[in-house]
Amino acid sequence: MPRYTYHCEACRVRFTVQMSYSEYGQREISCPRCGSKRVRRVPSRIRVLRSEGEYLEALADPGRLAAIDEDPRALGKMMREMSSALGEDPGPEFKEVVDRLEKGQSPEEIEASLPSGEE
Ligand SMILES: [Zn+2]
Repeated sequence: MPRYTYHCEACRVRFTVQMSYSEYGQREISCPRCGSKRVRRVPSRIRVLRSEGEYLEALADPGRLAAIDEDPRALGKMMREMSSALGEDPGPEFKEVVDRLEKGQSPEEIEASLPSGEE
């Protein structure tokens, strides 16, 4: 099940919530520390790339989506194909992420080791 990262604007804590794609957007999220509903989604760079990729991929081959959640290599391959399909230079960070996915590292593991540009 995908994990979503949120930031609480009341107490500034960051937390992750696990929910399914169908729950996302339906479920009300509140801060686990102070209970505030003033939370905003922190976009994860990998997840952003991945959701774009999943969108493109869903148009082409919905059957492959299931494998992407299970297998980082499938995700890496898909991201690589996606970036060449877009014809843009994705930059060194993207290439590193894809390389590491293709070596079988999990997106969570890779994200934890990348410098955070989110704050
Ligand atoms: Zn809070």
